[in-house]
Amino acid sequence: MKKNRKPFVAGNWKMHNTLSAARTLAIDVRERVGSLTEVEVAVCPSFTALATVVDVLRSSAVGVGAQNCHHEAKGAFTGEVAVDQIADLGCRYVIIGHSERRQLFGETDAGVARKVRAALDGKLTPIMCIGETLQEREAGRTFEVVLGQLDGGLASVTSDELSRLVLAYEPVWAIGTGKTASDEQAEEVHDRIRQRLREKHGAVADAVRIQYGGSVKPDNAKGLLGQPNIDGALVGGASLKADAFAAIVLAAHQ
Ligand code: PEP
Repeated sequence: MKKNRKPFVAGNWKMHNTLSAARTLAIDVRERVGSLTEVEVAVCPSFTALATVVDVLRSSAVGVGAQNCHHEAKGAFTGEVAVDQIADLGCRYVIIGHSERRQLFGETDAGVARKVRAALDGKLTPIMCIGETLQEREAGRTFEVVLGQLDGGLASVTSDELSRLVLAYEPVWAIGTGKTASDEQAEEVHDRIRQRLREKHGAVADAVRIQYGGSVKPDNAKGLLGQPNIDGALVGGASLKADAFAAIVLAAHQ
């Protein structure tokens, strides 16, 4: 195991797959990587398929996560889903603050922080996403933006809780575009994120997994995942094909 951090590869299926397609994909993922223990693996289907996918993956090492949650425990929030409801299905993870939610659904750092708090309180592992847009990168604001999202989202997280959380650095310009950050570009930001965690929380920063996300594919996974501060991947498009997803998982196993 490299870097004393177990690599973690998660598939974000976004708003894809009917129930039967989700079941078929989960079975395929189980067959390819279900017994692997050196890499932590999870898939994150739509809410509608969570129970079925949990059922398919129950006896395997592959975990299941949701793509979003509400920050309140219960109440009159039509259309929303609470952390307890997700955990009750047998899920272990929840993606929080994905750039699509920030850009298309108006999620703010304060909202992300509330959801991270709710996930930790509800015993789910938050996968908190941060990343800059192309415009922000070109304006030389990458670190300012990414570290601002990091500080904002972790506002209520204590040093003791930090290692229970997973971060995903996902440059917005690389998500679903086929453009990937180079190994060096990605590592530079991951390193800066870890430095910030160290400044604020000390040595526990070295236990925090930071995934890279943004057009990760079998052919670029090895280079990215081999970087000292990259501890796995959050995979969108390539996670919809079990063979491609499995190849990325195996690339993390190096
Ligand atoms: C994502 O949705 O988090 C993602 C990284 O997507 P893609 O791999 O398709 O760029």
